[in-house]
Amino acid sequence: MRTQVVIIGSGPAGLLLGQLLTNCGIDNIILERASREHVLSRIRAGVLEEGTVGMLDEAGVGARMHREGLPHDGFDIAFDGRRHRIDLHRLTGGKRVMVYGQTEVTQDLMEKRAQTGARSVYQAENVKPHDFDGESPFVTYEKDGTTHRIDCDFIAGCDGFHGVSRKSVPESSIDLYERIYPFGWLGIIAEVPPAGHELIYANHPRGFALCSMRSTHRSRYYVQVPTGEKVDDWTDERFWDELRARLPSASAEQVTTGPSIEKSIAPLRSFVAEPMRFGRLFLAGDAAHIVPPTGAKGLNLAASDIRYLFDGLREYYEEKSAAGIDAYSGRALARVWKAERFSWWMTNTLHKFPDQGAFGQKIQHAELDYLFQSEAALTMLAENYVGLPY
Ligand SMILES: Cc1cc2nc3c(=O)[nH]c(=O)nc-3n(C[C@H](O)[C@H](O)[C@H](O)COP(=O)(O)OP(=O)(O)OC[C@H]3O[C@@H](n4cnc5c(N)ncnc54)[C@H](O)[C@@H]3O)c2cc1C
Repeated sequence: MRTQVVIIGSGPAGLLLGQLLTNCGIDNIILERASREHVLSRIRAGVLEEGTVGMLDEAGVGARMHREGLPHDGFDIAFDGRRHRIDLHRLTGGKRVMVYGQTEVTQDLMEKRAQTGARSVYQAENVKPHDFDGESPFVTYEKDGTTHRIDCDFIAGCDGFHGVSRKSVPESSIDLYERIYPFGWLGIIAEVPPAGHELIYANHPRGFALCSMRSTHRSRYYVQVPTGEKVDDWTDERFWDELRARLPSASAEQVTTGPSIEKSIAPLRSFVAEPMRFGRLFLAGDAAHIVPPTGAKGLNLAASDIRYLFDGLREYYEEKSAAGIDAYSGRALARVWKAERFSWWMTNTLHKFPDQGAFGQKIQHAELDYLFQSEAALTMLAENYVGLPY
């Protein structure tokens, strides 16, 4: 088998790249380890930057997002028993974010790919990129007991943090930067109306909490929990009590409780692999970097990587120029590190750290106090939250 680009991974990065390439006639095959149903069952990100919305439109999959998504002009930060609004729209000269779940983004991209007849192989086992440091790379995989080989021009490693692509690169060729936080987010989804129209990020002496949503009748809530906490130790009742204890009383009263339909704990990590290109293998999305979810940047960074990678590949095929793919790693990493900084700052400012002590608490309080007294500080927060330019 032969194609122009083999894409490893059918998450948002792989599907978006595949659709953009397909739309301009560049042949590609997606190889995914999991089943289609499994990929669709993963509940993850939910806040899309304008740049991500624009790319989904460009890929031709934006219609349902514009119909069912919730555009948000701002969000609240709660501390000291009060809520303070960040007016994203005013602070950024008219920008906003779109609340639309990653599951929906993935489903829209999968449906479009099926309509266009582009090739995807789900439950592809033992996927391996080969010879990407030369001119003739290829990828092997196993399916139903048979080994297959796909020859290609390029390999896009869009296979997430635990994927095979980054691990295929010799250790001496890659630099890894990592910070692991001493807590995770316990999240639930419930079929109840959200506590408010916009998101509420809460800094509280008991720990961080977030009120989010997927729609006007489906809520997504999180509370910070120490590393090692077990989901089974959290009944719905315990979760709701803890969430309400971390919110200002007026907001706590607005929380509608109900049975959870999903409950899980996500660890928090900052991680970057440099560079993001190794010969004819490119890393994109979580395969190359992870951010703690506090800044809502994970999925959006996957989209901005694909912006640079797709532009580079299109230039290569349409204009016979390698300038875009040569610049890919540098351009992507410059934006990745700014999102890493912002996500780290949001995490440090809003969470309770086990070793922060009274001094750390005072500093955190001063940081938030300053934020709401300074137009410059608010603008920094707002322009990062809606997404830096590509
Ligand atoms: C529990 C959780 C909660 C999150 N919450 C948020 C949030 O609230 N906000 C936010 O912005 N971000 C969040 N994120 C991050 C966001 O979901 C990711 O940044 C986003 O999914 C990245 O997309 P991706 O396509 O790069 O990687 P993924 O979505 O991880 O997709 C990678 C794909 O590659 C496949 N794969 C892996 N290994 C192989 C292999 N060897 N062969 C073939 N295929 C393979 C995987 O099965 C997967 O389908 C969360 C992530 C997690 C894990």
